[in-house]
Amino acid sequence: MVQDGSDRDRRAGSLAAAVKSAMRRHGVHPKKRLGQNFLVDERILDSILDSVELSKDDVVIEIGPGLGVLTRELARGAGLVIAIEVDRDLFQILQTETAHLDNIVLLNEDVLKTDLSLLLQRQGVSRARVKVAANLPYNITTPVLVKLIKDRDLLDRAVVMVQKEVAERIAAGPGSRVYGSLSVFMQWYADVRLVRAVPPEAFVPAPKVHSAVLCIDFLSEPRFNVDADLLETVVHSAFAMRRKILKNALRGLPGLDAESLALLFSRTGIDPSLRAETLSLEDYAALAREYARLRG
Ligand code: SAM
Repeated sequence: MVQDGSDRDRRAGSLAAAVKSAMRRHGVHPKKRLGQNFLVDERILDSILDSVELSKDDVVIEIGPGLGVLTRELARGAGLVIAIEVDRDLFQILQTETAHLDNIVLLNEDVLKTDLSLLLQRQGVSRARVKVAANLPYNITTPVLVKLIKDRDLLDRAVVMVQKEVAERIAAGPGSRVYGSLSVFMQWYADVRLVRAVPPEAFVPAPKVHSAVLCIDFLSEPRFNVDADLLETVVHSAFAMRRKILKNALRGLPGLDAESLALLFSRTGIDPSLRAETLSLEDYAALAREYARLRG
């Protein structure tokens, strides 16, 4: 963990030196399989903190605290930080180094197995919605995002570092080359915003890919009220064959014959010769609603 003296280091722009020194002191060898790329750029750290917009009333869950660079700053601004780290070695380092801070709770577990609702209950967090901050390990980005969306009733905002391509896909709108089922799924339940791009040099060790910070504000209700399973079926069918026109891509929708498929388009007013990437969220809502009626 980077010591309290890091304030001075940060002002001097030497977060990198502080992180490297902490790694040497604790004999840390970053584990690739756990996506251990430690943040060493104070400007990016500040962007994350600015986006989280902390107050002392806030409870923040940090996923993968690593050496604690972000954790310590979160603890300064929030009432409580719950940090979940799967790596036993890093967990032990963090435990020792944060022992003097009374508003950090550390858990040594796999976030994908954590029951967030139970966790908050056990910590006596009664307020319904908390924040999430994370420099995510890239190999579990999608399952973590899916988990956060499923637990959205507990969450207010998530500020996450992800691979740049993933961030662009999530934030993309209709007509974009990278607009896809992940964009529709995330935007159905949240307002998403690209905060900034992050180059590989912002980390030690530097990853092979570029990254980006994404701010996700969870909606209290889904953007459109439709059956979630049917929506998923329609969106996945449409994008599974994204180069095909909708008439062909949606031909395989379970429970629809050719006649019902034609009605699906005529009743929604959606042109069957369009492609999936041109449809808005509202169009998908219309298709899912009409599909619910037609499949009987
Ligand atoms: N927050 C630190 C930083 O910004 O420097 C470390 C970020 S590093 C990209 C990802 C962290 O997530 C590592 O500390 C890694 O051990 C941890 N991690 C990886 N898989 C995890 C999992 N399934 N659950 C919890 N933490 C995990």
